[in-house]
Amino acid sequence: MRREEIESAVREAAEKYTAAGASAMIRPTSGQVKSKQESLIPAQAKSKQETITPAQQKARRRRQNALLRNVIQVIFFLMMPGAFVAGFSGVKSIFQKVSEGSVLELNSFVMALIGLSLFTIVFGRFFCGFACAFGTFGDFIYWLSGMIQKKLFRRKKQYGLPERLSPWLQKIKFLILALIVLTCATGAYETIGTYNWNPWSVFSFITALRFNLNGYMIGAVILAAIIVGMALKERFFCQFLCPMGAVFALLPQLPFAWLQRDADNCIKNCRACQTCCPVDIRLETDGFRNGECIGCEKCAGVCPKGNLTRWDRTLLKNEMLPVIIRAAILFLMGGYLGLCRFL
Ligand code: SF4
Ligand code: SF4
Ligand code: SF4
Repeated sequence: MRREEIESAVREAAEKYTAAGASAMIRPTSGQVKSKQESLIPAQAKSKQETITPAQQKARRRRQNALLRNVIQVIFFLMMPGAFVAGFSGVKSIFQKVSEGSVLELNSFVMALIGLSLFTIVFGRFFCGFACAFGTFGDFIYWLSGMIQKKLFRRKKQYGLPERLSPWLQKIKFLILALIVLTCATGAYETIGTYNWNPWSVFSFITALRFNLNGYMIGAVILAAIIVGMALKERFFCQFLCPMGAVFALLPQLPFAWLQRDADNCIKNCRACQTCCPVDIRLETDGFRNGECIGCEKCAGVCPKGNLTRWDRTLLKNEMLPVIIRAAILFLMGGYLGLCRFL
């Protein structure tokens, strides 16, 4: 999503919110509480605090959320770079056993698939939004592309594919998943695999700092094409091509894992959440449960009214703590399943 569009949408929404008298809501309403709080604040800090407008507070909140997400992404990138490959190998392993007519075995790949799937059923696609190394790589490429376009080509608006194409292109990944499942079930996948076409394998070599790609040139070319796509569209691979993303999108999610949006409390004509969504979910029209949602929580971070919540955020009355807890659970689970590099 284009940075300028997001920033202007958020700014617009925050201004509307401020104009609507929201500033009154963030100040203590009881004179007693107010005077008690004020007495605890040193005069210098108090005057500094008074200069912070609601729009600035929202901007600071957004920056803090973005920083937390980036820190979690880097940790998982370094510690669990192969988790998504392990999960998808579990899918292939199951269908290969089916084609052989042999008993399913709970090997490490199948366990990784079960673990990631259970986590997604309970917490939504948090893994995709925060922990998948390939998703993080895509975010980095898109950010880098935006910086290059802005600094070198003076483009105010980052080039991107038209949003209206997304719902159609998002179907491609289901076709890819069906094709892979079919080839695994018929035994053809092994033959195709000898051509070393898999871009994920090449990516795994690179994250393992192995740069000799002899024999993997087809995979390297496909990875290069994907990188071009990532530069032009946020979460290009996740939205359109990832077969593991297709598996996650098809999984059911417990109702309490769904994103809740209080539409009645929305600012009129505000589209800040929709504008920032990396996978172009129409938050105004779609239901709360959408398999395409990668659980990045960007929409919740930009909403000037805190209208987008999940059960744990409502329960803990905190934005960051639920994200940290989900990341910790995923990290421990990854360690238990042998997905962590250094554990
Ligand atoms: S959709 Fe695929 S590549 Fe993207 S974050 Fe999810 S598992 Fe990773
Ligand atoms: S709906 Fe919100 S949490 Fe889901 S992908 Fe879009 S911005 Fe991220
Ligand atoms: S939920 Fe979306 S549309 Fe509603 S106020 Fe928040 S950002 Fe605006």
